[in-house]
Amino acid sequence: MTGASPYIGRFAPSPSGPLHAGSLVAALASFLDARVHGGRWLLRIEDIDETRTVAGAAEDIIAALAALDMHSDGPVLVQSRRKERYQAARDQLGALAYPCGCSRKEIADSRVGTASDGAAIYPGTCRNGLAPGKTARTLRLRVPDAGRDGERVDFEDRWLGPQSQHLATEVGDFVLQRADGFWAYQLAVVVDDADQGVTDVVRGADLLDSTARQIYLQRMLGYPTPRYLHVPLMMNESGEKFSKQNGAQALDLAQPLEELQRAAGFLGLDTGAAGDRAAFWALALAGWEKRFGPR
Ligand code: GLU
Repeated sequence: MTGASPYIGRFAPSPSGPLHAGSLVAALASFLDARVHGGRWLLRIEDIDETRTVAGAAEDIIAALAALDMHSDGPVLVQSRRKERYQAARDQLGALAYPCGCSRKEIADSRVGTASDGAAIYPGTCRNGLAPGKTARTLRLRVPDAGRDGERVDFEDRWLGPQSQHLATEVGDFVLQRADGFWAYQLAVVVDDADQGVTDVVRGADLLDSTARQIYLQRMLGYPTPRYLHVPLMMNESGEKFSKQNGAQALDLAQPLEELQRAAGFLGLDTGAAGDRAAFWALALAGWEKRFGPR
């Protein structure tokens, strides 16, 4: 990567349960990508939604990653300790962020349309001030109207190829601070990626749809945009995302080689010939480098 900024990657689990096979895929992909680029790999605990935090889960995840040979190359950032940073970013956004008094039901009833993530698109009711009798519930970020500069966000995904999202029609003005007072994931992740100097985001494809919002926020805050690579999601037997919410089992850390091989296999890396972890890492890194390494 001559001339380019040094690579910084990250893995950013939410501590809502132990590391499971699905999250290991994202951890492994981000780790391999950092290593083949001679970069650093940072861990971040995304506990900004404190309603979902499970006590002890962050420590369990860090210990599980360590048992699988993956250690953060720097201090672990913890979102719940960074609320002042998110407030400062909000302040920097000025009038681009505005208070909204609409309930979820009112937004759904307005039937403007459904966003790509399944949520109802916000109709813009409070864009020019709260309606009489309303009190602020959330804080929203104004996105460009159709026909205005910056209305479409385009980016190249290193796994999936060219991506494009039209903010006004596919997303709408989105929430930066929730009705319960917690900062929204979209704001926290953008501030954190910038503060950690992240150059490359490698994560699960469930977050592909959030990427345009994050790029737009980066632009509004004057932050650089990292490169993105979204890996396929592991599904359970009923075709749902394999997640802590639908009871995904924790990894069997008594069998670290098998767990690593399973995650690598899901990423299309053939590490079956590895008899131990050193051989596993050699094969996995060579396989990833061939596909995604620096050219
Ligand atoms: N905290 C998110 C999750 O566990 C990941 C966010 C990200 O990688 O941007 O799904």
